[in-house]
Amino acid sequence: MSNDVNEPHRRGLMLALVSPSGAGKTTLSRRLVDEDPNITLSVSWTTRSPRPGEVDGIHYHFVDKDQFRTHRAHDGFLEWAEVHDHYYGSPRDSAFAQLRSGHDLMFDVDWQGALQLRTSAPGDVVKVFILPPNMAELKRRLILRGQDSPAVIKKRMTNAYGEISRWENFDYVLVNDDLDLSYARLKTILEAERMRRTRQPWLGVFVQSLLREDT
Ligand code: ADP
Ligand code: 5GP
Repeated sequence: MSNDVNEPHRRGLMLALVSPSGAGKTTLSRRLVDEDPNITLSVSWTTRSPRPGEVDGIHYHFVDKDQFRTHRAHDGFLEWAEVHDHYYGSPRDSAFAQLRSGHDLMFDVDWQGALQLRTSAPGDVVKVFILPPNMAELKRRLILRGQDSPAVIKKRMTNAYGEISRWENFDYVLVNDDLDLSYARLKTILEAERMRRTRQPWLGVFVQSLLREDT
């Protein structure tokens, strides 16, 4: 029996990718969801304004604070946090139905969001932290990305020190120096986590059938 035959029986997982702003989680997460049809990005709600090129409903659901608070009051978020003076939240929507159907979800969240996801969905969340190779490179990437004003970059750099100090709360840590190497390592983490015994509930029946076979 090939492993592929087993795929439909698997329970999906939630991959929470966290990093200080600029370390590369958006780059890595978009590449993964573009290349792997079995994982999709959970589209967050945010109260911040769209950056150039960002599309409502694709990169974020852009809402005002009242809309966000109403959705939060109706238990519409798996997790939410205030980051850099704006609200961000991952919609509850059909997340658990997707996991039951064997589909994986990627969450691009801050460290608080990853810890809350662990509470909302214990056993389903894999938390990966991405570090920059050094702080000067982090600043260089924020500047080169060219999407934030100098004042915003300064604030993100200040916040980065606090975010990095949370690294020990994570299951896996990647130092994103070489992008291709980091991406290969991220895929390795995903493949290994998909094969966890607890994510393959069909195995019990399968092993029972093995044990009934005569040779
Ligand atoms: P984040 O989502 O963590 O804020 P991004 O994915 O937007 O970060 O990356 C910030 C900038 O750094 C982008 O311009 C991206 O192309 C670049 N970048 C990401 N990873 C690397 C890397 N390993 N080496 C060089 N540049 C990178
Ligand atoms: P940005 O404004 O650069 O898109 O995101 C700023 C920070 O908010 C990043 O660390 C990003 O991961 C985080 N973030 C984005 N969406 C969510 C979300 O739904 N929940 C939480 N907790 N953080 C989020």
